[in-house]
Amino acid sequence: MGSLVWFRRDLRINDNPALYHGAAAATDGTVGLFVITPDQWIQHDDSPAKVCFWLRNLEALSDSLGKLNIPLVVKSCDAFDQVADIVIEVAKANGCEHLAFNREYEVNESRRDDAVMAACQQENIAVQRFHDRVIVPPKEIATGDGNFYKVYTPYRKVWTERAIDRANTLPPPKKQKRIEVKSSKIPTTVKGFDFGNAREDLWIAGEAEANRRLKIFSSRIKQYDDARDIPSINGTSLLSPYLAAGVISPRQCLAEARAHNAQRMGGDSGAAVWISELIWRDFYTHVMVGFPRVSMHQPFKLKTEKLDWRTSKKDLQAWKDGQTGYPIVDAGMRQLKQTGWMHNRLRMVTAMFLTKNLLIDWRLGEKHFMETLVDGDLAANNGGWQWSASTGTDAVPYFRIFNPFSQSKRFDNEGKFIKKMCPELESVPAAQLHDPKKLTEAIKTHDADYPAMVVDYKEGRERALAAFKSLD
Ligand SMILES: Cc1cc2nc3c(=O)[nH]c(=O)nc-3n(C[C@H](O)[C@H](O)[C@H](O)COP(=O)(O)OP(=O)(O)OC[C@H]3O[C@@H](n4cnc5c(N)ncnc54)[C@H](O)[C@@H]3O)c2cc1C
Repeated sequence: MGSLVWFRRDLRINDNPALYHGAAAATDGTVGLFVITPDQWIQHDDSPAKVCFWLRNLEALSDSLGKLNIPLVVKSCDAFDQVADIVIEVAKANGCEHLAFNREYEVNESRRDDAVMAACQQENIAVQRFHDRVIVPPKEIATGDGNFYKVYTPYRKVWTERAIDRANTLPPPKKQKRIEVKSSKIPTTVKGFDFGNAREDLWIAGEAEANRRLKIFSSRIKQYDDARDIPSINGTSLLSPYLAAGVISPRQCLAEARAHNAQRMGGDSGAAVWISELIWRDFYTHVMVGFPRVSMHQPFKLKTEKLDWRTSKKDLQAWKDGQTGYPIVDAGMRQLKQTGWMHNRLRMVTAMFLTKNLLIDWRLGEKHFMETLVDGDLAANNGGWQWSASTGTDAVPYFRIFNPFSQSKRFDNEGKFIKKMCPELESVPAAQLHDPKKLTEAIKTHDADYPAMVVDYKEGRERALAAFKSLD
């Protein structure tokens, strides 16, 4: 019996349940498959940086599989509704009576997988599905009355109990005998995606690079709690694109963190705090599965649907371009534009600025992030946006609006990050970057080519408070 292993966002040979078990079940060789779906990806707002990263990781995966004599077949169709036909066609052409894949939890992905399962049943192809994307599968955690959690802290408590045995990782499958199936040439372009600004230099593909990053980060994991909020230093792991594309598994990350934490989950060290970020990742997937409306442009808190969001194209564009006149916001937005990635503290600051100070609909910000991020992930992105907009589960209360100037004073006191991303502010003394009045004067004094504030801080804040209060 031949096995077909269908890769999606699990582009690795290590700790890959579908590959490991799929290959183990094969008595007659294993074949890998990846399906490119350009129209679907456009519909999902997947960014060119991310799609480019997928292709380059596919190339690395094909090399690694080649060393195990497992060929990787790459096919293309417009959208998910054509995928079942392709899977069946490839399975039949290669004599595979067994299909293995790792689950994806989003609505369209689940529907696609259900269609594939139904088609396989008709063709007598046995299917094995595995949980892989998160450490504890979304439905394995439930409240006392069997519902999904809405609040992180109690979720985290149950997660910690469940995850204790989940840091075991699988090796790659054994090398198989050569089979008569050729690997496909991996395309370097995809219809509808311009890779011109994909920053391949920053996001090197492959499992070796992901593991290198994990090792470097793990050598300074103890400092994570202090360093993680400072955008001018590499205080975080920079692993999100690799986790999002499945080039590294969350279990591999958990195993590394626990090795630093005397195998414990809790405690005060940086490792424990880092594990709590991996838990947020699981939590937002849990929320998306439990409350699928959040992935369909609806707020978790339904009453916020009535909020009178602004849609000002001019203000939205200033935010996207990093030209709001608020230095820390502009620095973050320029980092996103230039690298496809943004520091977590700045994701919170920029998202809150858009949704509160500018009162612009969070969905417009969510879409822009997704269209630009190299690590764009529906559940994490939506969770982050709905947290910042106070529309989500366990979100920040609407009256706790970040002051961008206090944020920069606290987390970029010397203005190092601001000046790196906004070089026109180079000559402005750091202390003046954190005060709206002094900043306005300094821009004049230093004749800096930097925009005036797009909204008065106080007015924007009052407008947001009034809009949210009107929902009470
Ligand atoms: C508005 C907004 C949008 C976001 N969009 C995304 C997104 O599309 N994709 C994404 O992976 N993360 C997103 N995040 C979460 C977080 O900002 C990034 O995961 C983090 O900045 C990635 O950098 P890192 O790998 O160095 O993180 P580290 O600090 O090293 O954390 C390790 C890993 O934990 C996960 N993680 C960390 N923080 C969070 C979080 N708050 N929620 C969920 N997972 C988390 C990520 O997979 C990350 O790689 C968003 C946050 C906000 C506020």
